[in-house]
Amino acid sequence: MTTTPATGETDRSIAAAEAYSAHNYHPLPVVVASAQGAWMTDVEGRRYLDMLAGYSALNFGHGNPRLIAAAKAQLDRVTLTSRAFHHDRFADFCQALAELCGMEMVLPMNTGAEAVETAVKTARKWGYRVKGVPDGRAKIIVAADNFHGRTTTIISFSTDPEARADYGPYTPGFEIVPYGDLAALRAAVDEDTVAVLIEPIQGEAGVLVPPPGYLAGVRAVTRERGVLFIADEIQSGLGRTGRTFACEHEDVVPDMYVLGKALGGGVVPVSAVVSSREVLGVFRPGEHGSTFGGNPLACAVGLEVIAMLRTGEYQDRAAELGAHLHAELGLLTAGGAVAAVRGRGLWAGVDVAPALGTGRQISERLLARGVLVKDTHGSTIRLAPPLVISKDDLDWSLAQLREVLAA
Ligand SMILES: *Cc1c(COP(=O)(O)O)cnc(C)c1O
Repeated sequence: MTTTPATGETDRSIAAAEAYSAHNYHPLPVVVASAQGAWMTDVEGRRYLDMLAGYSALNFGHGNPRLIAAAKAQLDRVTLTSRAFHHDRFADFCQALAELCGMEMVLPMNTGAEAVETAVKTARKWGYRVKGVPDGRAKIIVAADNFHGRTTTIISFSTDPEARADYGPYTPGFEIVPYGDLAALRAAVDEDTVAVLIEPIQGEAGVLVPPPGYLAGVRAVTRERGVLFIADEIQSGLGRTGRTFACEHEDVVPDMYVLGKALGGGVVPVSAVVSSREVLGVFRPGEHGSTFGGNPLACAVGLEVIAMLRTGEYQDRAAELGAHLHAELGLLTAGGAVAAVRGRGLWAGVDVAPALGTGRQISERLLARGVLVKDTHGSTIRLAPPLVISKDDLDWSLAQLREVLAA
């Protein structure tokens, strides 16, 4: 990392963004110009290790040669047909994704929030058409501190005031129970309940891992009561935790996976709902859709992502490097600089001792040392590097963290 001071391009770019874009984000003061693997380079030529990886959208790293090649090849063939016509990448993508998930059918969308919306619509329709819930009464149980996206319906069942305030009136039909509390969930299920929608690990909340047995318990309750178990694996899925899906850590297979982020390889937005024929079979032509959902470019990139996941090498890498990451973070906890560490695989929520600074301050100090992380909720920083990061680079980032916390 070089330490030349800003030449002005960074300041100019940030000032223009402040002037011309809505302030719905508060980015760290770095302006990225290019990236490769786990490293990004800013407009001043400084290099930074990306320890966020686009919230897991970049599991395979920046500019992954296989994904870029798949995208480039598709760019020269056809990029968009709309679903009014078939195209020759669609069936292969849906079949490959269904097989990767051990499921039967796929409904592709673009962003994560759209896939969650699709899951909500699917569960309600299934409830009315298959389960026999009286019209207008379908209930979906969700967990407190969830993050499922930003649409008006999704923020209606958020417990985060920042995500929710000023956006009402809110969509009804959701009941919120504490995350990890199986008894509360069991008590909330009634005859109108069509689904339980949860993140197997809550990313945005600070990488919260539920107590052992929770996911298996959710599976048992939902099966007993004829309720769909919807796992939002948009962030936890596709290798991050050391398995293809975080649910696998408890040998749980939900009724529906909601996927996004890494499914598009950091190249294009690709999301999907993956489930059984009984569930996704409820849709008939015209009842749901998206102009860009399942487009040829998305399918070509998604297919390559799936092919890469099929070998298990990225999952193994996340498991091995993740064990190392958590062992090292454990030492920091023992030293007192870190109050708590949670996570699985190459994914960690690190609660910094509040006396050492806010999460934002720690992030800014790491930025100055060439490490990019994102804080969440007060004094928590989250670490989620691309799964292709080298062990040496991971160790270097941990050395920077150690020094920042020792300062
Ligand atoms: C990011 C995320 C979403 C929303 O995805 P977008 O692509 O930002 O709409 C939903 N659920 C989880 C668990 C996520 O991490």
